[in-house]
Amino acid sequence: MVRETQTVSVTTPRRRSTSSKLTHCRFVGSFHELSQLPRDRRPQIALAGRSNVGKSTLLNSLVGQKGMAKVSATPGKTRALNFFLINEKFYLVDLPGYGYAKVSKSVHAGWGGLIETYLTKAEHLAGLILLLDSRRDPSDDDLELLEWLAARKLPALCAITKADKVNRDQINRKVLQVEKEVGVPALAFSALKGTGKGELVAAVLELMKEYSNR
Ligand code: GDP
Repeated sequence: MVRETQTVSVTTPRRRSTSSKLTHCRFVGSFHELSQLPRDRRPQIALAGRSNVGKSTLLNSLVGQKGMAKVSATPGKTRALNFFLINEKFYLVDLPGYGYAKVSKSVHAGWGGLIETYLTKAEHLAGLILLLDSRRDPSDDDLELLEWLAARKLPALCAITKADKVNRDQINRKVLQVEKEVGVPALAFSALKGTGKGELVAAVLELMKEYSNR
């Protein structure tokens, strides 16, 4: 279903210089409508995943600032698109977590609609990082996001989170399984152990490079 999604190469961090880091991060704001988004042309990379998958923790780990994603966790902001400006060059866009069973359908339709509108229409979207829990299978919601990206021929990659919760064989199998079944590159990530951080930073920078060559 998602075979048309373009891929982004996942390279080893050793090939990257140490200057290739996400050194500066600034929270720009929380937005509920596409019309409110920053109007500059800097590229955007979306971070998506179901609630509790480890998205805030991954974002904090990527930018090396523990409390950064918490800015967005204040009441009323968790159902918004949260924009973080990285190195003054591009945005990481934290999408609302989904799949939380206890919310009403109408509330779900509200932010689900926001995610869909953003992924199908945002003008400067360079790609998406989909977070999947190492102990779960991708949900229909996860797959749907990738289909929206595929329809636009935008690249995506999966970060398999909480890699420290399973053993090495299991995580390696999971990465291969996701790549095969979901059709996009995947890498193992653990904020706790630092696994995959260099690889993910490299993949983000690669997305930027591909975007600027488009
Ligand atoms: P979010 O709802 O997707 O933003 O998820 P959070 O970042 O708030 O994480 C949800 C829970 O998973 C928290 O209790 C985190 O401490 C835990 N968590 C996140 N990343 C990791 C990880 O790499 N390893 C482990 N063991 N726990 C993690």
